[in-house]
Amino acid sequence: MEDVESTESGGPERPGPRRKVLSSPYLHKLQRRHFLLFDILPIVGTAGAFAFLAVHPLRISDVVLLFAMWLLTGLAITVGYHRLFTHRTFKATRSVTVVLAVLGSMAGQGSVISWVALHRRHHECSDREGDPHSPNLSGSGLAGRLKGLAHSHFLWMRRHEYPNIVHYAPDLLKNQPLVRVARLYYYWVVLGLLLPALIGGLVTMSWTGAASGLLWGGFVRIFLLEHIVWAINSFLHMFGTRPYVSRENSRNGGVFALITLGEAWHNNHHAFPDSPSFGLDWYRLDPGFWLIRLLAAAGLAWDLKLPDEDRRAAKRIPVSAATRA
Ligand SMILES: [Zn+2]
Ligand SMILES: [Zn+2]
Repeated sequence: MEDVESTESGGPERPGPRRKVLSSPYLHKLQRRHFLLFDILPIVGTAGAFAFLAVHPLRISDVVLLFAMWLLTGLAITVGYHRLFTHRTFKATRSVTVVLAVLGSMAGQGSVISWVALHRRHHECSDREGDPHSPNLSGSGLAGRLKGLAHSHFLWMRRHEYPNIVHYAPDLLKNQPLVRVARLYYYWVVLGLLLPALIGGLVTMSWTGAASGLLWGGFVRIFLLEHIVWAINSFLHMFGTRPYVSRENSRNGGVFALITLGEAWHNNHHAFPDSPSFGLDWYRLDPGFWLIRLLAAAGLAWDLKLPDEDRRAAKRIPVSAATRA
């Protein structure tokens, strides 16, 4: 969960084959700090937002800030961090790339290069030894399943093996603008907190308006988006429908398609990780893919690699064996 330099200094150099994951007291200290700052603090901030209602009733500007910041950073995570940078499901102009990386950084889920490395490792090892956040490796029975859900949703971030970015994200390390954005990760998170505070203050011309903007457009927004994204890692590797064959236990949760901006088609995604569309069919709601189509129509994105019907048919589980979403 750190920037490029800290990873490189994350452990002593050893001869022999390049290690796929790194583990050192220094890295674990950074992970603990990140967990407290960006995972625990938003919970405290969200509680503070509700307490603050006693002195400053919720205004429409707070709701608009919450929604707009959630949508912008949420789309940047699914379209930028996930579909573009991790899986390279399409190509985009440099300006689109940088904007998505900056907005994604504001979500407080780690710098773009760390996020990509962790997620590529998730796909490599999904639901097996080495998966950073599988809910299915903590034992059987109710206790094992609950422990697995808590681990995969949230607790794994306290301390984990760090995927070596030289191994998992060499393409991103060659991309200078992205490396620069990643190095400034903490500044982008702070900017994502200051912006709604500034707008809230200007709209109401008051300090309480600024504080309310910070709480709702900043902390509550980070809190909500985090739990939505984490629910994909936890619940959608345990519950839901399974229309396609894939080697791990990924599931679709179609009812959450809109709120997850299309990420809820998680089984579709594991079956076809190179597809920019997670819904795959036009009637399966996928706001992330709608944005990619919009960018493509404007000439800002291209090379959308959609799986053809033959590929899909080859992996489809007969309806009698799986309830379709
Ligand atoms: Zn993925
Ligand atoms: Zn997954």
